[in-house]
Amino acid sequence: MKNITYLFSLFIITTVIFLNVYGHPIPTINTKTTVCIIPLNGGVSKSQLDSCINYLKTTFPNTNVIIGKNITLPKNCYNGRRYRADSILNFLNTLDMDVDKIIGLTSKDISVTRHLIKNGKEVTYPDFGIFGLARCPGKVCVISSYRLNKNINMFAKTVVHEFMHTLGVGHCEHNFCIMQDGKGSGKNMKESNRIHHDCLRQANYTLNY
Ligand SMILES: [Zn+2]
Ligand SMILES: [Zn+2]
Repeated sequence: MKNITYLFSLFIITTVIFLNVYGHPIPTINTKTTVCIIPLNGGVSKSQLDSCINYLKTTFPNTNVIIGKNITLPKNCYNGRRYRADSILNFLNTLDMDVDKIIGLTSKDISVTRHLIKNGKEVTYPDFGIFGLARCPGKVCVISSYRLNKNINMFAKTVVHEFMHTLGVGHCEHNFCIMQDGKGSGKNMKESNRIHHDCLRQANYTLNY
């Protein structure tokens, strides 16, 4: 009798497990954010690409970083001297891609209209060459290696900086945080070597980690 009870219990347990596994499959939720890197007009060097992917993945391990096909920038992004970063962002935003974020990488010089304070006076630079630009928050950002060719580490930091802008992280004042404003020269960015916890927490909050 004891044996029959034991076998019956085993049957019930096995049935319950079977129904749970096959009758009601446990859903697998994909929470990864897909980040697509798009080379623009030939993109950047392999070592620059590798270093920025490495920095992105180590900072945000749950992102799925993929590399898209090279795209040639439309003529209306070029002003005869430089590629306009805001026009590039507008263009990247129109791409019909099923990804969460788009990072455009180029070796061409990119620029914006920039207002800087010099000796207490605001000076407007209509075609100011920059390292990168992002929608904050938004889907797209663009980074140029043109002014960072000799500093692969700085290039990778700039990619993560602009990517974090797309996650809604603004500039911060902490020394050595890569989210500092480059303030035109990028000097403080070159000296930065970490992401302080408030900036990282805000980025991870947006990513739902
Ligand atoms: Zn910035
Ligand atoms: Zn910070």
